Amino acid sequence: MKKIINVAIDGPGGAGKSTVAKAAAKELGLIYVDTGALYRAVGVGALKNGLDTKDAASVTEMLTDTEVGLKYIDGVQHVFLNGEDVSEIIRTPDASMAASNVSAIQAVRDFLFDTQRNIAKNNSCVMDGRDIATVVLPDAQVKIFLTASAEVRAQRRFLELKEKGSDEPYEKVLAELLERDYQDSHREIAPLKPAEDSVTVDTSEMSLEQSISTVVNLIKEKM
Ligand code: C5P
Repeated sequence: MKKIINVAIDGPGGAGKSTVAKAAAKELGLIYVDTGALYRAVGVGALKNGLDTKDAASVTEMLTDTEVGLKYIDGVQHVFLNGEDVSEIIRTPDASMAASNVSAIQAVRDFLFDTQRNIAKNNSCVMDGRDIATVVLPDAQVKIFLTASAEVRAQRRFLELKEKGSDEPYEKVLAELLERDYQDSHREIAPLKPAEDSVTVDTSEMSLEQSISTVVNLIKEKM
């Protein structure tokens, strides 16, 4: 049997996790799993149902008839919510906030846990999120905490949104990012934090290429 390699990459929003993890996975022939997309899909489900995304009782009830799953189409991850491909609409700022809100609810984390575990059990992958090294894949062979200063992360997110035609001002992007950072790292369940055995990579001063090669080298060292 071929050995399964699991790489966990955690870190705050806008640190470049998804771009770096995706590129590293491609270079090393591993699949890339963006777990934030799962939380975003649940958040979008709650918004579609007109729910308060912080209301644990109603979000938990919604889960009883909610289906969220990932599919790989031409090697690209797509996320489905009740059979609908929501890969695009989960990327709005409202969806980001909704994801952060619902992700603090234990029932939501439990609901998505098996999906994440099963993918990693059956595939060599690079999985990114907030609690991958600490909770989802504590036995991952490689654990990386990818971070950057809030200002650098907000600037990157601002440019990304602008490219997509959004006119969200930088100050608003920064404020929302700080709010999400605070919320993600201060919640009671599975807060964002490096695992004791993670390697921290600060990309504030790195180009995208440097960030990718740093991560690829860290993975190669352990493979
Ligand atoms: O990574 P991304 O920004 O897409 O994640 C959206 C939100 O989902 C995060 O702000 C976080 O609250 C939540 N999340 C999480 N655990 C993960 C991945 C994402 O709580 N493993």
